[in-house]
Amino acid sequence: MLTPRGTNGRRPTRPIVLTSHPRTGTPQAPPITWGAADPASRGPVVATLTSPGARNAVGTHAGSYSLYRALAVAAGQLDPGHRPDLTNTAPAAPIGPFPQWSEPGRIVSLDPWGHMVGEAFAGRLAEGWDIRPTIAVTRAHIHMPEITEAIRAGRLAPDDEVLNAAGDARVTKVAIEPVWWLPGIADRFGIDETTLRRGLFEQTGGMFPELITRPDLQLFLPPIGGASVYLFGDPARLGRPQTRIACRVHDECNGSDVFGSDICTCRPYLAHGIEVCIETAQQGGVGVIVYNRKEGRALGEVTKFLVYNARKRQQGGDRADAYFTRTECVAGVADMRLQELMPDVLHWLGITRIDRLVSMSNMKFEPIVASGITVLERVPIPDDLIPADASVEMDAKRAAGYFTAHVPDAAELAQAKGRELGA
Ligand SMILES: [Zn+2]
Repeated sequence: MLTPRGTNGRRPTRPIVLTSHPRTGTPQAPPITWGAADPASRGPVVATLTSPGARNAVGTHAGSYSLYRALAVAAGQLDPGHRPDLTNTAPAAPIGPFPQWSEPGRIVSLDPWGHMVGEAFAGRLAEGWDIRPTIAVTRAHIHMPEITEAIRAGRLAPDDEVLNAAGDARVTKVAIEPVWWLPGIADRFGIDETTLRRGLFEQTGGMFPELITRPDLQLFLPPIGGASVYLFGDPARLGRPQTRIACRVHDECNGSDVFGSDICTCRPYLAHGIEVCIETAQQGGVGVIVYNRKEGRALGEVTKFLVYNARKRQQGGDRADAYFTRTECVAGVADMRLQELMPDVLHWLGITRIDRLVSMSNMKFEPIVASGITVLERVPIPDDLIPADASVEMDAKRAAGYFTAHVPDAAELAQAKGRELGA
């Protein structure tokens, strides 16, 4: 424990409690037995800062937003000891438990009990432990012009159950913050846990010393974006083998998803995925949209926009045969989404078979299948939904092995199809 001197003549500040080593004389957090079927044996994730010596996880809650919390406390706007009042916050629809929650190595990047802490860990809460949900489940109506258009074109029919005549679709939506079980994450990437911990420590500028000094702490709550899940149809049908599942796993693309930027196919493919989900839900199945916060192939939007400029200014113009190379020039890799962790959320939802996977990406298909989920059909994006400027991306992906009926040849890939930068 260090007691820093006050500055500017003010009274000395609070002691800083280092958490880099186990403390004696404080209550120890309940142990974690990751993958245990019974939540009492599994143990709750304790990552709150109200009792710094008694945590069983490195990092803290709220993913990337934890830094705003830190700023709010530093700015004097938030009491660091505030504990949430969780009255009435329980899930709006039950999800699980499913057998996958306790199958070895099946789920390593989220806490399957994260939405159920109130019931699963009632005893520990009563003892006074500050246990917070890492998953929340609510209900909503969503409205997208593409869905209204699908009704107008006769592709979707309102049923007043899943979809009404005004184009509003009823959904159950889920927000998930990442919880990494480090031994399982290391296994997933075929590396040893020490190498993983060292990489996480060094490449975050030493942000989390406990990754190195506390091998007894096996959980890490990384300061990254999580995932949202939009479920169409009755979520009670999840986990039943007869339920038909349509699914799109979508990685965030703010420019296209929100602003309609036409350089890629992200929003059109997302909207098509939602259309397929609504259709499947109306037929008695469940539609699942997983929306991962992995902007710009998890390289971030600054890198993404730099790549756009490099693509459009290169000799020969924006063309498919240089699509991945330009990203590698800037980022060192063409993609950093690390889809190995992506299937976890599907297992959390009790999915063992996807009847209609709305994706052409092998980088998504292969990890899903490798994780033990059967995929019956892969649904490509309809050609008439591809914006003109996005044909560069589409050709490059088809040539790189995306699921498609048409693989472009070298001559086609060398054609400049994208707009010029100032056009
Ligand atoms: Zn995009």
